[in-house]
Amino acid sequence: MTAATPKTARPRNLLDFQDWNPERLTAILDNADTMLQVLDRPVKKVPALQGLTICTAFFENSTRTRTSFELAARRMSADVMTFAAGASSVSKGESLRDTIEVLTQYKVDAYIVRHHASGAAHLVHQYSGKPVINAGDGRRAHPTQALLDAYTVRQEFGSLEGKTVAILGDIRHSRVARSNAELLPKLGARVVLCGPATLLPADLAALPGVTLTTDPVEAVRGAHAVMALRLQQERMSGGYLGSLQEYADTYQVNETLMAHAESGAIVLHPGPMNRDVEISTEAADGPRSRILKQVENGQAIRMSVLYHLLVGRD
Ligand code: ASP
Repeated sequence: MTAATPKTARPRNLLDFQDWNPERLTAILDNADTMLQVLDRPVKKVPALQGLTICTAFFENSTRTRTSFELAARRMSADVMTFAAGASSVSKGESLRDTIEVLTQYKVDAYIVRHHASGAAHLVHQYSGKPVINAGDGRRAHPTQALLDAYTVRQEFGSLEGKTVAILGDIRHSRVARSNAELLPKLGARVVLCGPATLLPADLAALPGVTLTTDPVEAVRGAHAVMALRLQQERMSGGYLGSLQEYADTYQVNETLMAHAESGAIVLHPGPMNRDVEISTEAADGPRSRILKQVENGQAIRMSVLYHLLVGRD
């Protein structure tokens, strides 16, 4: 397996995109092409991470991110230690710091962390001294989701340059929206964030290449990709919405709304979907949908991220 390695300094962690320049981000997308080829082989395994131990430390539930990271690490021959907080001494009151200090004694070389608190992935790096990949921290960042979204759009249109991605839904509580708003403009795309005013934090308009609107038709007009986001009820403490039905009537991604997007526009969703709330079943399963493609690409992107962070490092 060969992978392009840009000459700029290599970040030690993937917590968000602050330390990542377009050159290195593009290299991750490019190398995911190679990883997809590996995944198409009869023997879907390469020795790149042989001898390394990777801990997936999930303090919050996950289906796609966790399974794809675990498979990605195994496909690259790493030993994988799975830590599920729900079945651990965290339920007996053990702190994040004590938990990570214990796990680090098993000679863990890198952590993949999901946590309900923003900034937890950064703390895991501090407590362990090991490279950390953020698999979603609170409402702050979910960088590998944004990378696989970017990859899926690039795969469809050949390039991200000049493309528009509209993201509709619960922007306020979404780490996926934040990470995409940080990443896509670095790669030449424009991002339109759309939702009811209560779920659309005005400060995001300050990000370069990002615009905000409460009007879904305006949001999707000229969009090449339209992403629907779930209402993150687990992060909502107040009354952000009149009712689910009212929300769906205005903001649901469906064929009627998609008629206002570019003719070849695709539909994305990071999952899990609440069908017929933020997305219609027709749009989720229709010809524009690339939702399962996102899942397939997620494994290749996560292999590429592991490669970039861990291979060839002392
Ligand atoms: N799976 C995504 C996340 O972990 C989106 C969601 O949960 O709605 O942020």
